[in-house]
Amino acid sequence: MTRTTPPRPVDITALFPALSEHSATATRLHPRPGRPTTAESSVGGPLLWPADEAWPVCGDGGTHDTFELETPATVRRRREIYAAAEARAAATGAPYHLTDDEQAELPDADFSEPQDLVNQPIPLVPVAQLYRRDIPDFVGPDGTDLLQVLWCPLDHPEEGYNPRVRLYWRRSSDVAHTLNTPPEPPVVSDSYLPTPCAVHPEQIREHQYGRLLPDELDAQITAWEQDANDDEAEDGHSYQFDLSLAPGWKVGGFANWSLTDPQPMDCAECGTAMTLLFTADSSEWHGTGGSWRPLQDPAGTSSNPTDVSIGRGYALYVFRCPASFDHPPATAMQ
Ligand SMILES: [Zn+2]
Ligand SMILES: [Zn+2]
Repeated sequence: MTRTTPPRPVDITALFPALSEHSATATRLHPRPGRPTTAESSVGGPLLWPADEAWPVCGDGGTHDTFELETPATVRRRREIYAAAEARAAATGAPYHLTDDEQAELPDADFSEPQDLVNQPIPLVPVAQLYRRDIPDFVGPDGTDLLQVLWCPLDHPEEGYNPRVRLYWRRSSDVAHTLNTPPEPPVVSDSYLPTPCAVHPEQIREHQYGRLLPDELDAQITAWEQDANDDEAEDGHSYQFDLSLAPGWKVGGFANWSLTDPQPMDCAECGTAMTLLFTADSSEWHGTGGSWRPLQDPAGTSSNPTDVSIGRGYALYVFRCPASFDHPPATAMQ
């Protein structure tokens, strides 16, 4: 099923034509739980990975910041149990509840596998696999048609207590034999293990974060928001929430710097200002209503289909160096 972002409540470029110079397209991925294959774009799905290429691992061992560690199997089983209970409640109209057997199978809330399990190479987990044909805002080295995003599913203090991201661009026709059974990490933070999702890409237009606009334009928009807020009949006049930047998993577009205000993102290799490549988000739309909820998703649909959670419900923005795809990515949590 395609997913369609509702029209913005207000056509902000009609009111502020200068904004068109500060806009960019983005591709919302609209991940939803599914059973993607290696031949398809996905979030948290299997990767088209060459059988003769080593699977990447993280060797940070004891420098990871660890708290509650679980095996991937435990995380998946817990999600299955919750999903089954939700499906029963939806089918019968009865209140959501777990059976005694389900309850007994769930680990205690503070359960953790031994912390020293991180003192071994930790295989990275698939975060996204994106084929150029599916993603209007795909960028990659000439000749490549596939971007694979992986991360180490543990907190890295030097990455702002986030997972460490690795990017791989490929030409899919170069992969003659696909790795059938990738290694799995012995333990993960459950927030960083995406539930396998099919994607339903949709290109939209975004406008730059307010504080990164020219001062005068930012001030004009803020004044207009203030006027609109004084009129209680008006709704959906928040530039930041409704009119500029889409929440959720996406490719391209702009970052929403509302947590810390804009931070310079300069390439560690060459100093060039970086551009936003990819976003993993804790939520696909704001709150329960949210003007970004696709038309095809009824109210009450989970806004976190991937089960990924970044910090306290934030997003992880992955930036690339426009000077070279070989330069390392950088991340920011917002
Ligand atoms: Zn790691
Ligand atoms: Zn660079």
